[in-house]
Amino acid sequence: MNFKISCTVPDIGEAEANNVAYAIKTGWISSKGQFVTEFENNFASFCGSKYGISTSSGTCALHLALAALGIGNGDEVIVPDLTFVATANAVKHIGAKPIFVDVDRSYWCLDPNAIPSRITNKTKAIIPVHLYGHPCRMDIISEIAEKNGLYIIEDAAQAHGAEFRGKRVGSLGTVSCFSFFANKIITTGEGGMCLTNDPDLAEKMRLLNNHGMRPERRYWHEVVGYSFRMTNLQAGIGLAQLEKLDSFIEKKRKIAFMYASRLRELEDEGLIKLQCEAPWAKSIYWVYCLLVNNSSAITRDILAAELGKRGIETRRFFHPMHSLPPYFTSEKFVVSEYLSEVGINLPSSTKMEMSDVDFIVDEVYSVFKHK
Ligand SMILES: *Cc1c(COP(=O)(O)O)cnc(C)c1O
Repeated sequence: MNFKISCTVPDIGEAEANNVAYAIKTGWISSKGQFVTEFENNFASFCGSKYGISTSSGTCALHLALAALGIGNGDEVIVPDLTFVATANAVKHIGAKPIFVDVDRSYWCLDPNAIPSRITNKTKAIIPVHLYGHPCRMDIISEIAEKNGLYIIEDAAQAHGAEFRGKRVGSLGTVSCFSFFANKIITTGEGGMCLTNDPDLAEKMRLLNNHGMRPERRYWHEVVGYSFRMTNLQAGIGLAQLEKLDSFIEKKRKIAFMYASRLRELEDEGLIKLQCEAPWAKSIYWVYCLLVNNSSAITRDILAAELGKRGIETRRFFHPMHSLPPYFTSEKFVVSEYLSEVGINLPSSTKMEMSDVDFIVDEVYSVFKHK
């Protein structure tokens, strides 16, 4: 279906095209090439981390981080019940078991209070996901991890540049993983990256990412490696995108504040709830989200259908992981189940004009037959 206004649109242009053309002209189109190293270094430095290892997707970044930490068969990894499925899939692919934990009711990320009761002697790591651009409560999660000897693998795929108490995500765990899929705040088409401050872990990830072979000893494979590398073509796009990341974040926040200020009346009437930003957080509002009061006449699904008819694309929140066929259990995750039923993403592409936000807000009011 073609919408007048889409949820997210890649914001790419001439600088990206020039880098891709340069890679093609010079013949450096594989994972060897100057853009790859430059993108890894610059992105790591943007996030306040030392080492960057780029990958072909965010899912591969998670897989690589888990593998480098030696996580595998018989191990358990704590994963939020509300996330994009890749977080759980990477754990499953490595042979470990994702142990789901409910999320916080106000900012929708991994609930630190719900973690301790899910830790067993098989638990090896926690994967906090900075959902929809909002950071997790990293201080408490770090305390829990430290006390129990667990690794923290940040899944920052939706939160490039978000901050916890003034520190950028991606620098707050043992290792962090990013995605540069086309709908993320910056993109390389497909792509991902692992960041870490640990030189040994960085070296291990590099080794595993390159068929288990060190560049200085050709065809000698020390370990069973992977081929998850990013190409120089993608990294060229990424480098140009990184230049724009600060302005993208500013734009996303501007869009979010505009939605919030104009939709507050509906919130005051109890018809919707606006996306929140915790006092200790700087969200990048990757997508703007609302919770719809499903006990009123206009439910989330009705709002989505009505906006769709008016040419406005929306997305429902993710399904709870434990409700999906590969991960099904009858356990209850009250908050995640609730959010999944009432949550909706509104368009918040950096290419939008403020008049587009105005138009969408007007249409939301018209669906609620307000004024
Ligand atoms: C996008 C995303 C990923 C990785 O996605 P890829 O498509 O593999 O790059 C992982 N986790 C979360 C939370 C995501 O949103």
